[in-house]
Amino acid sequence: MAQSQVSPRFRALEEVRRRAIRVVPGLAEGGSRVAEHFGSNTFDARAMREKLPRPVFKKLQETTRRGEKLDRTIADTVAHAVKEWALEKGCSHFCHWFQPQTGLTAEKHDAFLTFDDDAQAIERFSGSQLIQSEPDASSFPSGGMRTTFEARGYTAWDPSSPVFVMEGPNGNTLCIPSVFLSYYGQALDNKTPLLRSMEVLNRRAVEVLKLLGHDKVYRVVPTLGPEQEYFLIDRAFYDLRPDLVATGRTLVGARPAKGQQLEDHYFGSIKGRILAFMQEAEHELYKLGVPVKTRHNEVSPAQYESAPIFEEANVASDHNQLVMEILRSVARRHDLTLLLHEKPFAGVNGSGKHNNWSLADSEGNNLLEPGKTPDQNLQFLVFLVAVLKGVHKRAGLLRSAIAISGNDHRLGANEAPPAIISVFLGEQLTDILDRIEKGEGANQPTSERLIQLGVSKLPEVNRDYTDRNRTSPFAFTGNKFEFRAVPSSAVISVPIAILNAAVAEALEELKTAIEQRKTKGMPLEKAVMEAVREAVVATKPIRYEGNNYAAEWVLEAERRKLPNLRKAPEALAQTVTPESKAFFARTGLLREEEVEARYHVMLERYVKDIEIEYDVLKNVARTLVLPAAFAHQETLGRSIAAAEAALPGSGDLLAPQKSDLKEHARDIATLAERLKKLERAGSGALALDSIERKARAMADEVLPAMEMVREVCDRMEENVADDAWPLPKYREMLFVV
Ligand code: ADP
Ligand code: MG
Repeated sequence: MAQSQVSPRFRALEEVRRRAIRVVPGLAEGGSRVAEHFGSNTFDARAMREKLPRPVFKKLQETTRRGEKLDRTIADTVAHAVKEWALEKGCSHFCHWFQPQTGLTAEKHDAFLTFDDDAQAIERFSGSQLIQSEPDASSFPSGGMRTTFEARGYTAWDPSSPVFVMEGPNGNTLCIPSVFLSYYGQALDNKTPLLRSMEVLNRRAVEVLKLLGHDKVYRVVPTLGPEQEYFLIDRAFYDLRPDLVATGRTLVGARPAKGQQLEDHYFGSIKGRILAFMQEAEHELYKLGVPVKTRHNEVSPAQYESAPIFEEANVASDHNQLVMEILRSVARRHDLTLLLHEKPFAGVNGSGKHNNWSLADSEGNNLLEPGKTPDQNLQFLVFLVAVLKGVHKRAGLLRSAIAISGNDHRLGANEAPPAIISVFLGEQLTDILDRIEKGEGANQPTSERLIQLGVSKLPEVNRDYTDRNRTSPFAFTGNKFEFRAVPSSAVISVPIAILNAAVAEALEELKTAIEQRKTKGMPLEKAVMEAVREAVVATKPIRYEGNNYAAEWVLEAERRKLPNLRKAPEALAQTVTPESKAFFARTGLLREEEVEARYHVMLERYVKDIEIEYDVLKNVARTLVLPAAFAHQETLGRSIAAAEAALPGSGDLLAPQKSDLKEHARDIATLAERLKKLERAGSGALALDSIERKARAMADEVLPAMEMVREVCDRMEENVADDAWPLPKYREMLFVV
């Protein structure tokens, strides 16, 4: 066949077969040691010490350590030092780098270039430019909080997250991690709520520690290690899939004979081309000071994971944004495409971002680490039940914080676990809480009681991972919790902000419960144990040790009155209930107008996501699937006619072929009919008058209609001649690399 007659799909396959592994000069030979270049593109303590006068360095260190705002009096000195450093690093521009509500990061670059009094070109960077910038940000989503003719927003440096250099193909850019606010101080980004939540959690946790007698602790921070799951497929396949390009997921595609059923991908040996990609991406991340630690194949074919060493939550959140960005750009260099969507392929596992979360105090202790002494273990129990209380009370909000269209395919859909938030603690810890509930040893002195409960033995038991439940959306894993329901593509700031604030609220309630007993004359330890017991009993419904994928769980959860918010629109509605608004106000996380605005942005985003999917599916079905189906119909018809001419009177013999043709013709008719229905559902949804109703209709009418279209398309894929099928197939995208 001439080249032009070979189908684009086969040409893509050939292209992929010819790919070589990309070797990066310098890296392949070993290059410099990681410890030597780690953080080399960040203005870290090492760079600060070198570039700043000692008193300024001290002051800046103190600022970040205490999580405070930058002192204006040192801003110019810091800016000058940052500029000198950035120029040495080859930067010509700087930008305030922030997390708008689009779910990405935003950057607007400004040159250092300016002119001095003698019209000479010079590079300048002032303290005020470091601290604050005013992007023309009127087209970021703000939920109507800030119309374009009104005041613009501004970005402000968050000194707790290090300034870094982003390398470009022809020069570098200084990036200043920032928050994004309106002139009225309303948060227009995802990072601000996270920082606010850290403040309130810090305050509440320190108060509780003081109450427990730990006076030295002046700060408590949430620690976070987000495990990033992702898919990689060859770029040649990706380019031939309009659905992947526009929506990040395949809207049609028959299941391959071999999917993940052999479980041979998970932790399997990493293919050379993929390993080369991972190594280059890690190298880039190390320079940016992102401590990525583990890499491995995930459950689905073509699925992988990268996990960092945990850091303070706000830094971890920025670093996760960098991870997503670097993975994406490095993948391109390897002719691969990164898919961060939660469910790029039906029938195999989706991707999430397991957020390992704990609390660390300024003494370096992990507050969720069971300790050796009764005193440590009393404290452990207080923080443990605070998490249970927080998750129980704010389960609906935690679900809302992870509600995006992609995650609905991972949670709550046919192949996925239900979207019910519950907590898994493991057998030993459950046993301890059950005994506390029963009041076991309540008459003994608290310290003896704690020894008998055996909390101090937990760390040893936890090292044995056999009792880990992989189906739970929120699991205790020895000395931290793992919030697993977080979507792979999302910014983690908001879900973690809600978790932080929920725990802060719970800590305040626990503090009150303890203090009330103390004022009645109860000894502190006994008061604490009673408050713990009360919380254990009250939060029992949120604890679930069984299989979260099982159908019984849905019924059981209903009995327990746990919210089961199946789809994003109903989950998002949780954010604007009066109860939620009161919570947001009480914890200082979001003001009422911010809550409303965010709700609006999220719903709008949801509607747009599905609208795009719906448009793309219509187009794929009409312009790619149907023509292939017509060609197949023609081939069958012509072949039958030819056989009839050659073998007159052999009607019986040809009956099965005719029946195949008939079924295929029926499929074509069905597809045409279902496309019409889809069209009606789509235009009907978009014509509705409120964003809430649009979102509901998208979820309840449009998505099911899309599924119906897909069902016929996938059957056609299985019938149409392989060389006439235009779209790369699952077996190619998932397995050929
Ligand atoms: P496991 O295998 O039990 O999940 P790992 O030690 O491999 O545990 O850690 C998984 C993730 O959890 C890593 O990103 C790690 O940095 C993170 N992690 C470990 N300890 C903490 C902690 N105290 N707080 C937050 N994240 C943590
Ligand atoms: Mg994982």
